[in-house]
Amino acid sequence: MLIGVHLSTAGGVKKIIEKINDFGINVIQVFVSAPRNFNDSKFDAESAQELAENIRNNTQVKQIFYHAIYLLNLASSNQELIEKSKKSLINALNVCAWMKAQGVIFHIGSSRERTFDQVKDEIADNINLILSNTPKNSTLTIETNAGQGNCIGSKFEEIKYLISKIKAKSRIGVCLDTAHSFASGYEINNPEKLLNDFDKTIGLKYLKVIHLNDSKTEFNSNVDRHENIGQGKIGLENIKNFINQNVLKDIPFILEVPGFNNTGPDKKNVEIVKKLFKL
Ligand SMILES: [Zn+2]
Repeated sequence: MLIGVHLSTAGGVKKIIEKINDFGINVIQVFVSAPRNFNDSKFDAESAQELAENIRNNTQVKQIFYHAIYLLNLASSNQELIEKSKKSLINALNVCAWMKAQGVIFHIGSSRERTFDQVKDEIADNINLILSNTPKNSTLTIETNAGQGNCIGSKFEEIKYLISKIKAKSRIGVCLDTAHSFASGYEINNPEKLLNDFDKTIGLKYLKVIHLNDSKTEFNSNVDRHENIGQGKIGLENIKNFINQNVLKDIPFILEVPGFNNTGPDKKNVEIVKKLFKL
């Protein structure tokens, strides 16, 4: 079982290691840089390698993921924003390679007034350019979206199309976020059908990671609000059924829940999920 949480790196490496060991997790996700500005990451090759070694030597962590910043948008009509977004992802993929991390997870962004058909080839061109300017041992992982405000990636077909246009396909992954996909009309409560749909459109070989979150908002609401495991509209039984699907047994689950004290993902959520695992 690969289970982890999104962690803040703010307290330094000692604090991260303490948390990982206290939570009993073997996967982590961290921000590569502050998520609400375009400043490059504080890591250079040496400090990134040192952090990763420290984590791997002092914890059970087997997989490390990065989450890209929230501001980037590869579907924008604003060229300055596109350039900043590309630069930010290139920086993140370099850090990913230095740390031998499993991937950089990102949201494609919103096309605003334009349709998917109008932006799809621009997005694919941008991704191709990013991949051709970054180390071959880094992976860019597209996250499924809740679909609010014309955000791209809420439909599996959109992700399928983009992957079809990407040259370095072995460097592309997909992150299925249960709260987002539930909000965009995918039945987490019918996991056989959902995963079959995913396989038929995108292909399960691209599924690298799951963001395991309950949802504060209703099915098909297109509104993205994460909830603690078992406290939301997906519910404990459906989450239990979902995480025990045989095809997911080697896929890491990362919690991005608010936490029972609203301080971010906590040990209690991890323990709830661990009790649900049968595999
Ligand atoms: Zn997510």
